[in-house]
Amino acid sequence: MPQINHYGFVIDVSRCIDCRACLVACSVENDVPFNYTRIWVHDLGVEGQFPQLKRTFVPYNCMHCDHPPCVEVCASGATYKDTVSGLVMVDQEACIGCGFCVEACPYDVRYLDEKRGVVDKCNACVQRLAVGREPACVATCLGGSRMFGDLNDPNSEVSIALQQASSIQSLTMEYKDGQATGANIYYINTNVDLYSRLEPHPPQYTLAEQSWGKVFIPAVLAGIGAAALAQAVMFTKQLIQGESEFED
Ligand code: SF4
Repeated sequence: MPQINHYGFVIDVSRCIDCRACLVACSVENDVPFNYTRIWVHDLGVEGQFPQLKRTFVPYNCMHCDHPPCVEVCASGATYKDTVSGLVMVDQEACIGCGFCVEACPYDVRYLDEKRGVVDKCNACVQRLAVGREPACVATCLGGSRMFGDLNDPNSEVSIALQQASSIQSLTMEYKDGQATGANIYYINTNVDLYSRLEPHPPQYTLAEQSWGKVFIPAVLAGIGAAALAQAVMFTKQLIQGESEFED
């Protein structure tokens, strides 16, 4: 089914004041455990000579990639790209906590919640989108730095911000075969080179190579299941045999 919307974030870097209201709002809205976070604000430090000093803060979260390496390595199908919104989602009911997606993400935006045994990350607050509200981080952004919307809609806030931006950067990166991740966060209005400062790590494999997990892990799980089933059958057989010997 073709994707209907193309949701993404636009971040006006010149407006972020590092208040971190977005982090608190995200954690409360999504019940994120105390020692984890789904979103960040990277502090790139102070640059320039006094009195011409400048400090850059970069809000950060899942890029909801067009070609997400996390989806390619997911063995259980728990991580998927939603065909309506274009957002990359995690079905935590289906997640087996193998953590391959955490390693595969070039942007390090996923974490494995060891207590629950599932992976978690930004889902753009789909529960809020469903009732016509913005993601919590966007709604609470005091500087108006974080924006979210449909990049396909020329009248959306994100599209207008991109049209009016003095500069646009994306952290999109290439696989070995030249395919791009297609990151859907656009950073605007900064002349700091964000790519070299934030250093996402390139995917180590091509998309095709990453797909091995989809075959290998289900095969291992199927093998374990078959062995358990065989043991259960043997045990039942022995039980029945024992009972009939006892009766004789
Ligand atoms: Fe997946 Fe990472 Fe891209 Fe988000 S940023 S879609 S977790 S690869």
